Amino acid sequence: MKLADARAALREARHVAVLTGAGVSAESGIPTFRDAQTGHWARFRPEDLASPGAYFRDPALVWEWYAGRYRDVTRAQPNGGHALLTQLEREKGDGFFLATQNVDGLHTRAGSGAAGGQLVELHGNLTTARCEVCDWTADLPAPDHFTPPPSCPDCGGRMRPNVVWFGEDLPETALAAAATAFAGADVALIIGTSGVVYPAAGLAAEALRRGAVAIEVNPVETNISWQMTFAVRDVASRGLAALLGQEP
Ligand SMILES: [Zn+2]
Repeated sequence: MKLADARAALREARHVAVLTGAGVSAESGIPTFRDAQTGHWARFRPEDLASPGAYFRDPALVWEWYAGRYRDVTRAQPNGGHALLTQLEREKGDGFFLATQNVDGLHTRAGSGAAGGQLVELHGNLTTARCEVCDWTADLPAPDHFTPPPSCPDCGGRMRPNVVWFGEDLPETALAAAATAFAGADVALIIGTSGVVYPAAGLAAEALRRGAVAIEVNPVETNISWQMTFAVRDVASRGLAALLGQEP
């Protein structure tokens, strides 16, 4: 398949399912999980901060780390890749589905999920917290007014970061929605994710099995490249601009 064919497939698709990963956030300056371990935090492994065991042992430490990441993502801005996905959602309406592995909330800030289609955050969102007692989810206060840990506005219980930790399952409803969307997609887009992290490979494979065109956007080859119909070897913003026939 050539770029012109991929473009045509995307233009004519009624149902588009998208999966995004860290590569989309990288252009906004959001460091990957491991790259975020600098300075004081360099001596911790992510597993020592982002796991139920770590939180049980030292909730204050884990919250301090998340508060720092929350400040970082609040300062960051959505980039051209986020904006083009919102534009695509506007074009496809309820035929558009976006699942992201990113927890920075940048897709939401760029308008995804509010332009006629659906957005699910498979790994949660670190700009929100979830009650340990009653499961209530709430936005964190602005970084300047935020002292962790937050208390539940509903029951007063302690709240935890609303992200999926090592050793925890992905949210079932979000996963089920993604599986349904990819199974029914005419075009599946896999953007900025290595394919190692579950469930990227499975979603792409299911879309292909049902006859979809699967397009990867990634500057480097990944574990799932071999099964793709077409690949754009570029960063998300430029790769999407090429697929949508626009100047980045
Ligand atoms: Zn509560």
